[in-house]
Amino acid sequence: MDADALYQDVYDKYCRYINPNLAKLMGFAGFGVEMVGDGCYIIDHEGRKYLDCLGGYGCFTFGHRNPRIIQAVKDQLDTITLSGKAFFSKNAADLAEKLANMAPGDLQISFFSNSGTEAVEAALKFAKAATGRVKIVSTNGSYHGKTIGALSVTGREKYRKKFEPLMPGACFVEYGDTAGLSAIDSETACFIVEPIQGEGGIIVPPDGYLKAARQACDKAGALLIFDEVQSGLGRAGYVFACNHEDVAPDIMTLAKALGGGVIPLGVTIFTQAIYDKVFGENPMAHTSTFGGNPLACRAGLAAMEILQEGEVVRNSAEMGKRMKDGFLAVQAKYPDILGEVRGRGLMIGVEFTMDEVGELVVAQLMKRGVCVAYALNNPRVLRFEPPLIITAEQVDHAVSAFDESLAETAELLVVLA
Ligand SMILES: *Cc1c(COP(=O)(O)O)cnc(C)c1O
Repeated sequence: MDADALYQDVYDKYCRYINPNLAKLMGFAGFGVEMVGDGCYIIDHEGRKYLDCLGGYGCFTFGHRNPRIIQAVKDQLDTITLSGKAFFSKNAADLAEKLANMAPGDLQISFFSNSGTEAVEAALKFAKAATGRVKIVSTNGSYHGKTIGALSVTGREKYRKKFEPLMPGACFVEYGDTAGLSAIDSETACFIVEPIQGEGGIIVPPDGYLKAARQACDKAGALLIFDEVQSGLGRAGYVFACNHEDVAPDIMTLAKALGGGVIPLGVTIFTQAIYDKVFGENPMAHTSTFGGNPLACRAGLAAMEILQEGEVVRNSAEMGKRMKDGFLAVQAKYPDILGEVRGRGLMIGVEFTMDEVGELVVAQLMKRGVCVAYALNNPRVLRFEPPLIITAEQVDHAVSAFDESLAETAELLVVLA
């Protein structure tokens, strides 16, 4: 099949069997069929090579098909893949120990699942069971997933409306606003918050916000949940984004990068005290058939080994600064179009001053071999979350492609005006 025919075949099947409206949007933005992932690049059906600055919303922290992770998974395929469930699994045991050693504070027990939203579901259930309370405080603009529980605490009307009534008890406060934390009271089971909002548009809270959240929860006897599904594991230039303020939650969720960009894997990490309350009488209080399977945990183990070596986290901080400085220089050239550049590590958002510019710039960047996307909850914001193994040369390529894309978009806007 030639390249055009292959594209047409896949596109038609998406339109008939997967998601016609989404397929049209992707086609319009110029996305082809992904054929090969390799390090920081994705190669499409026409052999075009894209620098992956979207990074699967942060899944490809270790690059596409990181050789060490691929080898570990290949080795695992020759012994046992999914769990027989009655037996112990060495990989789950080793990974849980590693995560407990990495995680801040008293986080010690791991519940493994297969995605971010499942990790959040577990966190919410544990918070309710451990406190005997139902009120859950979350933040506007947050993203915690799209299953019913996680959606109930996701701060975006657009995704919730059609599915209401959702889980009762959720309420929302302004993200980053310390005064809003007064909503955390003696009825509150937990406050769930992203240390940096991802889908909300890469929103970094003011320093002291996480500490204030910790204090508010302690005062109210509520639990603090950090959803680090996107911000964790080196993304923000720290092992966990909450390390920036040196604040530890009672429950933390991880997913996206946890499986090393090779196998899906999620985890909910929590304290022994919470374990006793939730699982004390019933060790089967919460379970998952596929969660913690030997194959996924092997991928996770290889990935966490790389993370612990430190180079990836250092590079995230260093290359993140290089990229952000580059974008700030571009912003100085086009202040009318580009409003703000923000983020930490390689979790960077650029916000345009008007709607629709984002889409144009995405298409321009694609044309120049750089793959990005806008934030789900905030289409004015383009997100840059490349693999943390990105080189200075690749960062500079992304920045100059962005510069050229804005120049061309600016011209286009003048013509259209
Ligand atoms: C992506 C994301 C989720 C949901 O993860 P899925 O694997 O898509 O279910 C939850 N929380 C945050 C912060 C996320 O970025």
